[in-house]
Amino acid sequence: MQYFRLAGARGAHLIAGSRPAMPVRIDDTSDVLLVVDVQNAFVPRGNLAVARGDEVVAIANRVARAFANVVLTQDWHPAGHVSFASSHPGRRPFEKIRLAYGDQILWPDHCVQGTPDAELHAGLSIPHAQLILRKGYHPGVDSYSAFLEADRTTSTGLAGYLAARGLRRAFLCGLATDFCVAWSATDARRLGFEALVIEDACRAIDTEGVARRRVARNGGHGRRPDPRR
Ligand SMILES: [Zn+2]
Repeated sequence: MQYFRLAGARGAHLIAGSRPAMPVRIDDTSDVLLVVDVQNAFVPRGNLAVARGDEVVAIANRVARAFANVVLTQDWHPAGHVSFASSHPGRRPFEKIRLAYGDQILWPDHCVQGTPDAELHAGLSIPHAQLILRKGYHPGVDSYSAFLEADRTTSTGLAGYLAARGLRRAFLCGLATDFCVAWSATDARRLGFEALVIEDACRAIDTEGVARRRVARNGGHGRRPDPRR
């Protein structure tokens, strides 16, 4: 995976984090920016708030101006979705369970279809975005990735869309670095696209940090997060 950082006020210049810094030229015919899940749920006061998640809004707006092609993604769950802790009696958010398709972290209810929590952040201003791709709408399957759902077989259709438009190199920004951005970037590469993560245009959830803070809040009582899980 290649990770890039922003340079310059316009966001038109991306540089590799490694040295020597490598400027990246955006190609309007083959490059696309994926703005991942910049939704009310994932900013402070949202149902699944990412620390400083709101900081990516202005950055995404700025970066998007450098791209002719932009796709926005939107986490979009039905009520009672399998990824919600509330759908599993006795379970709490950020616990991990085993489902038919593999391990699933349980989340607070978030991005329920048609609710304000699921709306794209009001500050997002990317009018030239061509597609809003919704994911996670199957009741029994989660989808961190913008390409493949968590069963690792159901396609969201994004790969076909990009291929049909001749878009071969995806730059990614948004929320959250360690889940939807990372899974989307990994799948993009697996499916034959180039993928570049714009590191400083992302913010992370850090579920282990959440669990640690919960233990600390409880005065050290309660079940400690198992580092092997
Ligand atoms: Zn979700």
